[in-house]
Amino acid sequence: MAEIRIGHSQVYAEQLGLGANAIGGHNLFANLKDETGKEVVRTALQNGINLIDTAYAYGNGRSEELIGEVLQENEFDRSRVIIATKAAHVPGQKGVFNNSPEFLTRSVEEALRRLQTDYIDIFYIHFPDKETPKNEAVAALHKLKEAGKIRAIGVSNFSMTQLKEANQDGYVDVVEDKFSLIHREAEKERWPYLEQHNISFVPYFPLASGLLTGKYHLNSLQSMAPDDPRKKNPDFQGERFEKIIQAVEQLAPIAKNNQASIAQLVLAWYMKNPRISVVIPGAKKPEQVRDNARALDIHLSSTDYHTIDQLFKDF
Ligand code: NAP
Repeated sequence: MAEIRIGHSQVYAEQLGLGANAIGGHNLFANLKDETGKEVVRTALQNGINLIDTAYAYGNGRSEELIGEVLQENEFDRSRVIIATKAAHVPGQKGVFNNSPEFLTRSVEEALRRLQTDYIDIFYIHFPDKETPKNEAVAALHKLKEAGKIRAIGVSNFSMTQLKEANQDGYVDVVEDKFSLIHREAEKERWPYLEQHNISFVPYFPLASGLLTGKYHLNSLQSMAPDDPRKKNPDFQGERFEKIIQAVEQLAPIAKNNQASIAQLVLAWYMKNPRISVVIPGAKKPEQVRDNARALDIHLSSTDYHTIDQLFKDF
């Protein structure tokens, strides 16, 4: 599989990465074990995945620490791993973000320390704040890029207006936003802008938190615990849930023809999509990441690609 260039940077990555919010993300998921998280990272790197997508917000730095520890192991060569991390969350203040040059510069230094490395391949502003002009925030990252501390500049969860302001000087290499077969808003306005400005796109929630793996069925909601956080997710409610399950069920014969699981088929669809640079499915268990890595060997025909596209066109 050819490596993909990230924006105008010198970062090249495989098309399949690992989303690491469940690696040390104790504030996001219950019952996570650090050692299992480290094994998920090792399994990814041993199976052809070379980009790890983390953030300060995943465990308030714990995810970065665990990834840093794995990269110290003899088996792994730092120069072959693409580390993407993010910052903006103000420690100890839920839902408060800071994009000021001082905050971002300090955040990069702290992430370098936790990751035990001297450069970050992709650094994203995780969420926009209300105060900082976005071109000033990105200018601070450009300085860090010139100093060799980061290699590519990203923004995440920005509105179109914020993105345009951030990219005023043409410094943005990559955008990470919510996108999946069932969340396709980015296609309308965002993708044409990104294409025009040579900015890469990394979708998050590619498996729609597991909905697009085929493991849920129409009666799955009944067996879900009342306090399961997915119950608050509109994708897991009423008619929308039923419509998604029905569309996912139609993937089964296409997956079978490709000797793939539904999750692998969905990941292969993203990898064939010319507007998507790197797909970063999350995983909580080594076997999930091993399963997802097999998507690297699936080469979808154009017919299958378009059939899947049409099945999910209305979402
Ligand atoms: P996701 O990729 O849509 O779903 C991942 C979840 O699906 C896993 O935790 C696992 O959950 C299940 N799963 C994965 N592979 C599977 C397989 N082969 N078979 C069955 N189930 C499987 O959602 P996500 O992990 O929340 O998001 C992906 C990544 O995007 C994150 O890790 C993070 O790096 C990034 N992200 C970024 C932002 C941002 O603001 N920039 C926001 C959210 C996420 P279960 O075992 O519980 O089913």
